[in-house]
Amino acid sequence: MSLPVVAIVGRPNVGKSTLFNRLVGERVAIVEDIPGTTRDRVYGTGEWNGRRFTLVDTGGLELEPGTHIEARVQDQARVAIEEADLILFMVDAAVGIAPLDHEVADRLRRAAKPVILVVNKADNPRRELEGAEFYALGIEPMIAISAQHGRSTGDLADLLVDALPPASPEETEADLGEPASAFVDGDLSETELAELAETEIGPPRVAIVGRPNTGKSTFVNRVLGHERMIVSDLPGTTRDPVDSAVAVDGEPMILVDTAGIRRRGAIDRGIERYSVLRSLKAIDRADVAVVLTDAQEGYTAQDAHVVGYVLEAGKGVVLVINKWDVVEKDGHTADDWLKALRREAPYLAWADIVFASALTGQRVERILHEARRVAEERYRRVPTAELNRVVTDAVREHPPSHVRIYYATQVAVAPPTFVVFVNDPTLIHFSYRRYLENRIRAEYGFLGTPIKLIFRQRVSEESARRQARPRRIARRR
Ligand code: GDP
Ligand code: GDP
Repeated sequence: MSLPVVAIVGRPNVGKSTLFNRLVGERVAIVEDIPGTTRDRVYGTGEWNGRRFTLVDTGGLELEPGTHIEARVQDQARVAIEEADLILFMVDAAVGIAPLDHEVADRLRRAAKPVILVVNKADNPRRELEGAEFYALGIEPMIAISAQHGRSTGDLADLLVDALPPASPEETEADLGEPASAFVDGDLSETELAELAETEIGPPRVAIVGRPNTGKSTFVNRVLGHERMIVSDLPGTTRDPVDSAVAVDGEPMILVDTAGIRRRGAIDRGIERYSVLRSLKAIDRADVAVVLTDAQEGYTAQDAHVVGYVLEAGKGVVLVINKWDVVEKDGHTADDWLKALRREAPYLAWADIVFASALTGQRVERILHEARRVAEERYRRVPTAELNRVVTDAVREHPPSHVRIYYATQVAVAPPTFVVFVNDPTLIHFSYRRYLENRIRAEYGFLGTPIKLIFRQRVSEESARRQARPRRIARRR
């Protein structure tokens, strides 16, 4: 499933990241403790009126560090034109039209991409009126908002969703972020269970991602140059021409958007600058992302952003510490790394981590084995009775305070999603959610894949009866 990409473009300080945080804010709670939930994150998933989209704050993209502001903003606009489905061009009503606004507007007008002109910092009616001067930029629709105060941001979200390309059927179907209301009152119906069981699982789709220079193209070229992994023809699998099919243990696997990775270097190093958004799209189309990092540099904030995006998209992850060949090692170097990683990034506790060298080929095949395994974990289904044995034990050993937990059921795979019925979801503490997740993982693994726990209210039988009584009396009268 590929979500439409919406990019925010504009000069520094116009309020891009403020708007970004406002539009993606509420969804952060689903996967706890993911990296990049700080103010400086760049990608996120937004949702409005049931439509989901990937939002990118281009102000946070490190395109060519050190270049001039003008060049940087123009670069961001170019990336947005290349890769986004919709562009939010943001300007500052408190400052008025800046020369650079004209230049960016010219570029955007020439591009065949939908653009919304967002006049920010229209904090009051007077500013809003003054904002009318931006009509001179010739970009429509135009809307005046205040990202900081939330003024008209709902109207902007309406405009945004209207301007998105129509939802693909998979997007609508796969949108299992929240269970349909049918689940609220009890277990899955027979038909729903049957549908779950029939989910078609094709060959695993794997995206090779990571920040520049971590070794993506070296990795892909090594895999595709590997005689044993070559598949000339894959019966029954349709694939995009930009993807590659390989054989892992004789079973097919799709490497998503290898064209984007191989092309660079060969034709134009400049293309690399566009690879960030391209990677996002690849992740959306994949089951599992192999995230490459550079052992020489350690696990950086940028790496954490990439992993964060993968987890937020509900995809599996294999974290590769690449260039392991250049690390000086003694008997416990890898162990020390693992410990440090899991300490620094608790969300990696259940992630799959491989130390490898794309250059020498060390553990390259192993990475693909792991990716396959993670893809399988992502589709694992736990029968309701078994799940409830685990949850009941967990609750007995460590009861939550002030909350009653009735039962749990798995409502979706890919990622595995569980609904836990309780008397009052607002009383579930963050740490208790973590505890239940750990108990479920201790039993079933789900290695490498995020899992979602959704707490839903369920009135107890008793209070339901109590609530029902007065109504019956009323009817008799
Ligand atoms: P970016 O560089 O474009 O990402 O801009 P930021 O989101 O970091 O915002 C730059 C400054 O403008 C910050 O101090 C924000 O608090 C402020 N700001 C953002 N939106 C508004 C707004 O709607 N009204 C006002 N008055 N200030 C805003
Ligand atoms: P990409 O930008 O992620 O596609 O990275 P490249 O595949 O172009 O690799 C960037 C640089 O790192 C190149 O000079 C590679 O030769 C080098 N490189 C890639 N993988 C390894 C590795 O496992 N070990 C070492 N020592 N160098 C590597």
